[in-house]
Amino acid sequence: MLDEIPLSRPDITQKEINAVERVLRSGRLSIGPEAELFEQSCAERVGVAHGVACSSGTAGLHMVLCAMGVGPGDEVITTPFSFVASTNCILYVGATPVFVDIDRTSLNMDPDAVEAAITPRTKAILAVEVFGNPTHMQRYRAIADKHEIKLIEDCCEGLGGRSGRTRIGSFGHAGVFGFYPNKQITTGEGGMIVTNDERLADTCRSLRNQGRASRSGGSSDVGSWLQHERLGFNYRLSEIHAAIGVAQIERLDELIERRQSVAQLYIDRLLDHEDVILPTIEPDTFMSWFVFVVRLSERFGPSDRDRIIEGMHRHDVGAAAYFPCIHLQPHIRACCGTGEGDFPRAERASGRTIALPFHPRLSDRDVDFVAQTLDLMLARENLHRD
Ligand SMILES: *Cc1c(COP(=O)(O)O)cnc(C)c1O
Repeated sequence: MLDEIPLSRPDITQKEINAVERVLRSGRLSIGPEAELFEQSCAERVGVAHGVACSSGTAGLHMVLCAMGVGPGDEVITTPFSFVASTNCILYVGATPVFVDIDRTSLNMDPDAVEAAITPRTKAILAVEVFGNPTHMQRYRAIADKHEIKLIEDCCEGLGGRSGRTRIGSFGHAGVFGFYPNKQITTGEGGMIVTNDERLADTCRSLRNQGRASRSGGSSDVGSWLQHERLGFNYRLSEIHAAIGVAQIERLDELIERRQSVAQLYIDRLLDHEDVILPTIEPDTFMSWFVFVVRLSERFGPSDRDRIIEGMHRHDVGAAAYFPCIHLQPHIRACCGTGEGDFPRAERASGRTIALPFHPRLSDRDVDFVAQTLDLMLARENLHRD
């Protein structure tokens, strides 16, 4: 009996375990040196001035929108093909998401559609490096600058990647990373805002800490602990989580390299498959692989794809439909009035994508077994068709 091959798995070593133990023994479990160190490491890695650690990627996105003063009546241009958090954060602040369709190669927003969607009410573009692919980020930034609006980079899927010489996380006026266990690095749960804008960083530090002055110390700092300058949240990252983050980011190159070689195994194995379309990477792009998502050829539809995924599960292979379109989620339909047919390219991509098991410790044998299982399921679908 083969072991189950999971869709993803965090890469935790003795280094992370030691870091957690050290924090637990220190007695300082929140607001301390680990979070500061993690912030510095992330900012340095991205090549920006400030990092603001927080409890999740979603919390980071929420705070960035608050800090930029985005609110009711404002429009934010974003993609329907992403993880739902990139749209939910716009709804949290009462602003209106304006979806634009994607380009079918990169699966990121079509830059011409972005520009065409700008109105006098547009306050920001919220762009996502879908599956870690930074294609068009420079274009979005140029459009934002031209129209004097903000570019928010939801870079939760791209830590360590580059387009040309620009590192993911530094295209926007602010970027946000997430550290859920399937990301390039994990803290269990966690997030990081990165920016060169000192005022924005300060506001976010205050927002994550119940609206206290951004320089406020811990609860022993009685002078400022019960003073609140604004409506804030508790979006802090604990010292325990931050210590895992410090250990993980020190291993980032190693983790990216491992992911890269697993991606290459898949590419070599699936390159000539007539029914499988591999991710397209622009020539001047350094991919930090987040997931390995393939698309089925045009002759497969969503129900074929779903059957293929079910079949893979029966063979103990984790696989998933990444992503269901955001504009078709029930709560988005209800609040934005969106529906089928609104963004045909996003819908077509979404109906044919399969995320394959992907993590740094996947072996040659695992990749081979996944590919064989995919072959088998595709062959079965083709048989039923003929
Ligand atoms: C992971 C992710 C997030 C944030 O996720 P959290 O679970 O809140 O850390 C946001 N946007 C995208 C595109 C993501 O992939």
